[in-house]
Amino acid sequence: MTAANSSRRRGLMLVLSSPSGAGKSTLSRMLLGDDADIDLSVSATTRPARSGEIDGKDYYFVSQDRFTDMVDSDELLEYATVFSNRYGTPRKPVEDALEAGKDVLFDIDWQGTQQLSQSQMKGDLVRVFILPPSIGELESRLRTRAKDPEDVVQARMSEAMTEISHWAEYDYVLVNDDLDETYNKLVNILAVERAKTVRQVDLVAFVRALEDEHKAL
Ligand code: 5GP
Repeated sequence: MTAANSSRRRGLMLVLSSPSGAGKSTLSRMLLGDDADIDLSVSATTRPARSGEIDGKDYYFVSQDRFTDMVDSDELLEYATVFSNRYGTPRKPVEDALEAGKDVLFDIDWQGTQQLSQSQMKGDLVRVFILPPSIGELESRLRTRAKDPEDVVQARMSEAMTEISHWAEYDYVLVNDDLDETYNKLVNILAVERAKTVRQVDLVAFVRALEDEHKAL
């Protein structure tokens, strides 16, 4: 064994949560575009597709009955109701990716993160929470983005405050004041987490090979 093949590792689960409007989707897109070793976990949802969203890429858009089936047959790693729609993470693609040493990015809320934190997969989790620089900024991002009626904006603001109240349940918290700076921090977190001893599954064999090489000198 050489240093070149000592780097096999178990994949990690990078969870990004934030109130909507804090820049999470932009950060996810940047990361997925730049890093071939991480794939997005595509969630199932009962909410209707928004314009431009593609079934199987942004979400699996499913009926209430299909969602209930997925829950009953244990096909979901976690699930939650957000804005009165149901969302859940299909289990199989995540397990396959981790086994293959691929990392998986999750854009899920605090409820889903709590469930993953209590699951057998908790050792694979890296939880990152994105905070907006201010509530004023969050509100203006929500208003310009969706052009929703006032009551919808207010409901989203109230959801956002609930989401924010869970910041302490995450391993890292980033205040997204400057997008590029926040992105760099996210990339650094991923690099450090990938290097952790527990994720490098071949280390025992690699160090034995180093010892053998030493003995043979
Ligand atoms: P949206 O409908 O705007 O795409 O997403 C609404 C919220 O649902 C976001 O906070 C998003 O992170 C969360 N969400 C999306 N997919 C999942 C999922 O599979 N599980 C959980 N728990 N939350 C999700």
